Amino acid sequence: MVRPTLHCAKALQLTLAVIKPDAVAHPLIMKALHQRILESNFIIVRRKDLKWRRQDSERFYAEHSGRFFYQRLVEFMSSGPMRAYILAREDAIAHWRELMGPTKVYRARYTSPDTIRAQYGLTDTRNTTHGSDSVESAHREIAFFFPEFQIEDWMKKEEPCFRT
Ligand code: ADP
Repeated sequence: MVRPTLHCAKALQLTLAVIKPDAVAHPLIMKALHQRILESNFIIVRRKDLKWRRQDSERFYAEHSGRFFYQRLVEFMSSGPMRAYILAREDAIAHWRELMGPTKVYRARYTSPDTIRAQYGLTDTRNTTHGSDSVESAHREIAFFFPEFQIEDWMKKEEPCFRT
């Protein structure tokens, strides 16, 4: 069988982006962040509003257990609703992290004032957004938030220009 040659302008990559409870509590910030996603040429592949139980938060952030901010983080992330997105574009992981800015809000304000965390973050823990930091974590985190989403199926059925 001769396979058709694909001519893709861009190779898409997936990432997981999360709007944390501090931002979801403010409709205008939510609106601004949604707009920012669209203006930054991301495709919104899936979107979900959800609220974590404490044990979801503990499991997701298990790598940080033992850090001084762990309990605070776990409590905060299960304190209210969140919005999760699967986003696609070329180099989605790096682009979303660049848009978010540094983890620490005061550092973000100093070094990269145009970033989301600099503009909307409240503290180093309540820092508005999450984004996967590697292909491996994107796959793991997409499965955590969207267990029904199958990356392989999406690649085949919805997006032929996909890159892991
Ligand atoms: P990022 O979210 O930028 O990938 P990390 O994975 O290191 O950063 O941390 C996960 C989350 O834990 C951060 O987004 C933030 O909410 C919280 N956090 C990280 N470092 C600190 C810190 N020094 N003080 C308070 N909270 C922190």
